[in-house]
Amino acid sequence: MIYRILIQAYRQFFNKFLLPHHCLLCQHISDRALCKDCEQSLAWLQDTCPKCSYPIDKQTISEPTPCPACFKNKFYFTRTIALFHYEEPISSFIKELKFNGQLAVATWLGQILSEHVEKIYSNELLPQLIIPMPLHVKRLRQRGYNQALEIARIVSKCLDITLQPNVCRRIRHTRPQAQLSALQREKNIQQAFEIRGAINVGVGHVAIIDDVMTTGSTCNVLSQLLYEQGIKQIDIWCCARAVHSKNMQY
Ligand SMILES: [Zn+2]
Ligand SMILES: [Zn+2]
Repeated sequence: MIYRILIQAYRQFFNKFLLPHHCLLCQHISDRALCKDCEQSLAWLQDTCPKCSYPIDKQTISEPTPCPACFKNKFYFTRTIALFHYEEPISSFIKELKFNGQLAVATWLGQILSEHVEKIYSNELLPQLIIPMPLHVKRLRQRGYNQALEIARIVSKCLDITLQPNVCRRIRHTRPQAQLSALQREKNIQQAFEIRGAINVGVGHVAIIDDVMTTGSTCNVLSQLLYEQGIKQIDIWCCARAVHSKNMQY
């Protein structure tokens, strides 16, 4: 019996730390969840609104104008950095992370988000604090972890930025946003958060990390709360940007 337990523990250790990964898409050996070739083949966002990362057609814009989402909303965040269009296989990876406990996806997303952010901020100051999008305690109990926090942990380590996961709390158990229309989303998310801890004096620039951004309304409600606490620069870092449709109504 004891031997069997020891052998199992050894195998788990061997698989986790000594064996190289196999790419989730092509199965080739890779030093992380996806190999470089497969990473490059993903639907990276190219031309987006700098404020809300809504995909825009650069050809049709001759001078800076607000994108449809920014035209319709007052966003309290300053800028949004998003990695991918929310489409296959990214959508499946994120679902695996959220609903199937595939935390290796969070590690990989955290790594590439950090690399991307580092490039974009090469001549700028990074935020002083990272705040992951909070999950309501009820959903946290069901899931056992907050996927945004798991991604944020990696980004915090890679970029050496303080992570403050407990400063904001989700106080309303909102229905899953994906099932709702844009108008219902707005109502669903109002008063969903509260600030429960003190934000360090002198912090004026934070990054909110989330897995997927759709209308931006959830990030905006949290941003408004932080803005009212005196934080004047709020950046959103998210892994994927979803849009309802080409004629999306905000
Ligand atoms: Zn691959
Ligand atoms: Zn915009």
